[in-house]
Amino acid sequence: MRTFQGITVSQGIVFGECFVLASAGLHIPKQYIEPHRIEEEISRFLSVIEQAKEEIAVNRDSTAAALGTTFANIFEAQLMILQDEKLLSEIKSRIVNDRFTAVSAVSDIIENRIRILRKIEFAGIAEKANDIKDIEKRLLRLLLGGKKELLDTLRTPVILMANNLTPSETANFDKRYIKAIVTEEGGVGGHTAILASALDIPCVVGAGPFLNSINTGDFVIVDAGGAKVIVNPDETTQNKYRDLAETDESRIISFVSLRDVETITTDGVKIDVFANIEFPHEVENVLERGAEGIGLFRTEFLFLTQDSDPTEDDHFNSYRRAAESMNGKPVIIRTFDFGDDKILDRLAGLAVERNPALGLRGIRLALMCRELFLSQLRAILRASIYGDVRVMFPMISTVQELLSAKVELRNAEDELRHNNIPFRENIQVGMMVEVPAAVAVLDHFAEHSSFFSIGTNDLIQYTMAVDRGNRNVNQLFNAEDPAVLRMIQQCVKVSKEKNISLSLCGQMASVPRQAILLAGLGVRSISCTPSAVSEVKSMFRKISIVDCEKVTKEAMKYSQISDVKQCVKYLLDSLMPDAFRNTG
Ligand code: PEP
Ligand code: MG
Repeated sequence: MRTFQGITVSQGIVFGECFVLASAGLHIPKQYIEPHRIEEEISRFLSVIEQAKEEIAVNRDSTAAALGTTFANIFEAQLMILQDEKLLSEIKSRIVNDRFTAVSAVSDIIENRIRILRKIEFAGIAEKANDIKDIEKRLLRLLLGGKKELLDTLRTPVILMANNLTPSETANFDKRYIKAIVTEEGGVGGHTAILASALDIPCVVGAGPFLNSINTGDFVIVDAGGAKVIVNPDETTQNKYRDLAETDESRIISFVSLRDVETITTDGVKIDVFANIEFPHEVENVLERGAEGIGLFRTEFLFLTQDSDPTEDDHFNSYRRAAESMNGKPVIIRTFDFGDDKILDRLAGLAVERNPALGLRGIRLALMCRELFLSQLRAILRASIYGDVRVMFPMISTVQELLSAKVELRNAEDELRHNNIPFRENIQVGMMVEVPAAVAVLDHFAEHSSFFSIGTNDLIQYTMAVDRGNRNVNQLFNAEDPAVLRMIQQCVKVSKEKNISLSLCGQMASVPRQAILLAGLGVRSISCTPSAVSEVKSMFRKISIVDCEKVTKEAMKYSQISDVKQCVKYLLDSLMPDAFRNTG
């Protein structure tokens, strides 16, 4: 039994077999196939051998042309290895007799050869070992293909364990087969983490390194709330977690009754609890949980779930579905904001940036990809007649950016008007407050924005200079950090002075303890991940605003994050014993 500690992304206690998602270049776990798939696996292996030969031959020819035949001989030697019948039949035997997948068989046999070769101290042998390693890498790359293809082979629910996942990989999961996600890398604010919680899949990130010590098929317990992953647990541990899972289940069932009740604190203050979505189909879940609207529709995921850019009608259909299903409740659609996915190349023909978080993100990219932006704006406007649709711009750093974005919105309106296409005149236009520069001069934005929505995921990232998806610096990524709390306090002050409505849609709103701090700071509207809506509603109905304010006031006296956390925990545990088990 081994335990790995990571970072909680979304709650839940799950048991089951794990599926290790291998990546070329990283440890390849042993994976087995069903007997009826042996033939298919052998032919996949043989066709990859042919592909590898073709690739190597191309390398040989281009090297010969550029550098001469002596250098090209390196590739000739590699081709000979691929024709080594003994090697090929050993690999085939692993597949046929031991039911290894082609990936596991290639790695097992070739790694074994390399180990033997490296023990021999003889001139030229080390080179041969390197050649074989190179071949192994090539074969694994061809066999593994994209992670998506691998995941498509899943037919039973598993706990997915991987080094890391990109947002587009997570966005394309078939939820039926993924019970929980555990990654070695990653931080709590990353988009993969956000997606996992949107999909309501228990998830722990930053729990590595573990790939060297687990194999597909190992029995695993994921206690996502406790950020723990237990591989091959003993019986006592299994029993303990089965009991905990049952308690958790009854706690979740108790939330159902909250669907139709308003969120009012014990001293009568109303808190608006909205939900964040990434896909239009999440709206049903949002309604089920009793959210009062969509506080953030992250539209970039429409791009990540398909290979080509969504058309104006693809956008329109998604937004219309969300607006209609919400039945008159607000739906705040945020124009696309790509973080770190490899999308720049596709959208703007630009190479991946060295520092994407500080590069062409959010509104910067939208203003550059004008046609794409206009088509999204037209779609939002067209959907606006089907509900209370509002538009929001991401990553606004300067007033000029907000003004330019609004010009494009007016252009989109003009085009629709010109073509007699109906839309809601005077649609509400707001902005995300997630860059410290915007906080510093928020008063300047007031006359140009109908509402503000604080994005703490980025606000923390940029305030603390800490990559939101990097577990190495995760200890600095804290919503309760004194600097972050003051930023939010400043936003509340300016919004009140300027009479602009303020909400907060970062992950902070989804963590009950932190939501209390927000209420204590004067925030009266929050937007959470759908799975957190019920819990947050339930918690606010058990506390008074006076107590929220007391906790926040006390917490803000401290200069160190550890003291702030301790203070909040101490006060809330005494105010609401039992309320926070497993909620971070
Ligand atoms: C945020 O930054 O807090 C936010 C809500 O936007 P995203 O997480 O999509 O960057
Ligand atoms: Mg953001």
